[in-house]
Amino acid sequence: MKMCIACGMPMMAIADYPLLDMSKRYCKHCAHKDGTMKTFNEKWHEVTLQYAKNYNIDNAIAKQTAYIILKKLPAWKPRY
Ligand SMILES: [Zn+2]
Repeated sequence: MKMCIACGMPMMAIADYPLLDMSKRYCKHCAHKDGTMKTFNEKWHEVTLQYAKNYNIDNAIAKQTAYIILKKLPAWKPRY
């Protein structure tokens, strides 16, 4: 089973892939309408909003948490 490199979501069905393209390493939630991958800042913003809403926490804390989570994923790991 593949996991989205940009958000960590398991990709179980072809419907989880952008434009139903199973050669992609990221899910449809991490893709633009044209199938290209979103940037770190776009995902960071999305995940921050999601966290603030889901856990009813302060935006600043959600932003920090989102950053830590995203940075652990293969797409956003720091490169050396
Ligand atoms: Zn994703």
